[in-house]
Amino acid sequence: MNTLDLKGMYKEELENLFLSIDENKFRTKQVFKFIHNEKQNDINNITVFSKNLRSKLNEFTTIRNIDIVEVLSSKIDKTKKFIIRLYDNNIIEAVYMESKTNNTICISTQVGCRMSCDFCASTKSGFKRNLSASEMLSEVYEVEKHMGKRIDNIVLMGIGEPFDNFDNVIRFIKLINDPDGHNTGIRNITLSTCGIVDGIRKLADTGLQVNLAISLHNAIQSERENIMPIAKANKLTDLKSALEYYQEKLNRRISYEYVILKDENDSYDHARAVKSMCAGLDAHVNLIPLNKIEEYNKKPVDDKDIERFKEKLDDLGINSTIRRKQGVDIEAACGQLRNKYELFTR
Ligand code: SF4
Repeated sequence: MNTLDLKGMYKEELENLFLSIDENKFRTKQVFKFIHNEKQNDINNITVFSKNLRSKLNEFTTIRNIDIVEVLSSKIDKTKKFIIRLYDNNIIEAVYMESKTNNTICISTQVGCRMSCDFCASTKSGFKRNLSASEMLSEVYEVEKHMGKRIDNIVLMGIGEPFDNFDNVIRFIKLINDPDGHNTGIRNITLSTCGIVDGIRKLADTGLQVNLAISLHNAIQSERENIMPIAKANKLTDLKSALEYYQEKLNRRISYEYVILKDENDSYDHARAVKSMCAGLDAHVNLIPLNKIEEYNKKPVDDKDIERFKEKLDDLGINSTIRRKQGVDIEAACGQLRNKYELFTR
């Protein structure tokens, strides 16, 4: 039975595997290059291995892959949305974005999400399972192959809460950063969390210098709990001290993501609350227009509403940027297309 997935294994683990079947450990570099540089998935195509070794590996290992089942291209920018089927028929999404200087992918880390943020499509059909490191790697490799372009930046901001799948996410980051593999710069990787306090502290302890983004969306405790139930167990005061710990350890700037909800989180009081979350930290605020989802009927937000909140933050001396919407015509809010695809293919 094929059980061990070679794609998600560290080099030390591959070395041990080859030693356990009386093979030289230099096989490790060959298979690592085959999977992570050549992005291949069939053990039978590792031509530097003897036929005997390939069939031995086929007995108890595999190189798991994913299937791109649909690609939607934006007509207004270069954003593409990939609908991806996993080996067990679960569906996830990845979004590819291109600018003049770099190519970025936003990947999913779970099938569904259990965090229940009010405004998010990913949570609406519930949580199914965690993605393995191998599946996250495949999102990057298969989209790269499809595009014929190298991906420079990786954002863990698609479906799922990365800290709810901590070990697999850390494994993915270490593997994609490996100089013998894809070699994505550690500072070209951004991890986005809804504010899981333990996860932030654990990330700080790994020493990995990834970028950290916090989905804040409201810095008044009682109001944040209404739109993000996870805030009840992860209070803003605890979040702030976890972020202080993170900066003490890693000395990295953090960014707060803030979706503007008209008349709900855009007053001066809200701006002052954001200021208190920034005090004493090296922090930046990204203001995001809400991607409309069917299940969440809110007042429409226009550019002027966002600019008005930015002015309030400016007045209080808070650094902020208005994030440009990408892929609006292909429903780029995470989870939207997966939900529809599942509905149509059920
Ligand atoms: S915003 Fe992120 S954490 Fe919240 S439900 Fe959506 S995917 Fe999960």
